[in-house]
Amino acid sequence: MLENYRSPWMDEDLDAFAGAVRRFCKDIIEPSEMKWRAQHHVDRAVWLKAGELGLILPDVPEAYGGAGGTVAHAAVVMREMGYAGSTGFGYGINYLVGHYLGSYGTEAQKQRWLPGIATGQIITAVAMTEPGTGSDLQGVRTTARKRADGKYVVNGAKTFITNGQMCDMVVVVARTGDQQGAKGISLLIVDASNPGFRRGQCLDKVGQDSGDTSELFFDDCVVEADALLGGAEGQGFFQLMGQLPYERAMIAVGAAAQMERALELTVAYVKERKAFGKALIEQQNTRFVLADVNATVTASRAFADHIIRHWIDGTLDSSLASMGKFWLTERQGEVIDKCVQFFGGYGYMLEYPIARMYVDARVQRIYGGANEIQRELVARSL
Ligand SMILES: Cc1cc2nc3c(=O)[nH]c(=O)nc-3n(C[C@H](O)[C@H](O)[C@H](O)COP(=O)(O)OP(=O)(O)OC[C@H]3O[C@@H](n4cnc5c(N)ncnc54)[C@H](O)[C@@H]3O)c2cc1C
Repeated sequence: MLENYRSPWMDEDLDAFAGAVRRFCKDIIEPSEMKWRAQHHVDRAVWLKAGELGLILPDVPEAYGGAGGTVAHAAVVMREMGYAGSTGFGYGINYLVGHYLGSYGTEAQKQRWLPGIATGQIITAVAMTEPGTGSDLQGVRTTARKRADGKYVVNGAKTFITNGQMCDMVVVVARTGDQQGAKGISLLIVDASNPGFRRGQCLDKVGQDSGDTSELFFDDCVVEADALLGGAEGQGFFQLMGQLPYERAMIAVGAAAQMERALELTVAYVKERKAFGKALIEQQNTRFVLADVNATVTASRAFADHIIRHWIDGTLDSSLASMGKFWLTERQGEVIDKCVQFFGGYGYMLEYPIARMYVDARVQRIYGGANEIQRELVARSL
């Protein structure tokens, strides 16, 4: 197992930071997991605590309320949250929105939103997917029409939106122009207190129950002209393409960490559990399957480290992020499925972390862009 393996991009400062994040997960996230799953959302207090510790925007400058660290600090948070199986705490969306603002926002937009996002006082959502379109983002039908006074009127419906019930602000993908395809698409920052904004159902999912995933509606929702991210129309698709690799890299890093946790839990269990007069670890099948799993987990960690290294260097490209997303989430599915088997009936009981990891893992191959789309993106780069 990997407890003695230190990722090449880690150093002493990052080790200490990782320890603090792991304590946060152990003390704050793990004890409330079952409560959050029952209520289908994470308590706001957790957001504030994470903000206080600098976990939400670790690599955003302090001038904007961030922790002033590096991408490596952000990667530590992603890995530790993945390791803890923290699938419901949608801090990652705040991280992504922080980076949309940091990369494309006007100075006024950064000043207005980033400090609250960093502290966890502002919970965000990114609304791309619609009932009629998900993978094919160029097909979005939500519109943002400019009025004579310069304000935009947003109309449309979104679905499957992480943090939908909790969010205070939503980055909405909408059509501002009549051009078909990518050119007519813009991103708008919509304040959730706007009267035209409506939350629909909190959706009942197969897993990741502690997170809220919701429908959102925009009914003649009037937003100020300065709600347009970056201030120029028609940039939305390119802004999305610029940031989606980071979302995919986050999913990939989390997948590798989940596999490590699954292996550790399973090894501990098979050493303890007895059948036919001996511990399960003494059965040859257990030993061989877990040896295979260990090889996969080790290779996955090395792949995740490779992605993180490129991210830190500023050389993470879309193809590498997509490759990591599809490959690591598929290994995650296989590894956790094999691990569940060793727990027997207990592996199917949600009281056991391995069972929750199993139900939570499935969607990793769907969201962030389905894995088939990731393969398409990789193939284009060949
Ligand atoms: C728990 C959860 C959280 C989510 N959070 C968010 C969020 O915060 N914001 C947001 O905007 N969206 C979110 N989504 C939506 C998610 O990103 C979409 O579900 C995903 O992109 C797939 O879109 P779709 O569901 O419309 O499937 P479709 O686009 O209808 O695709 C269905 C399937 O068809 C196949 N397919 C589609 N196109 C191709 C192709 N070109 N080549 C080969 N196969 C293809 C794939 O297998 C795909 O899974 C979330 C979804 C879930 C389940």
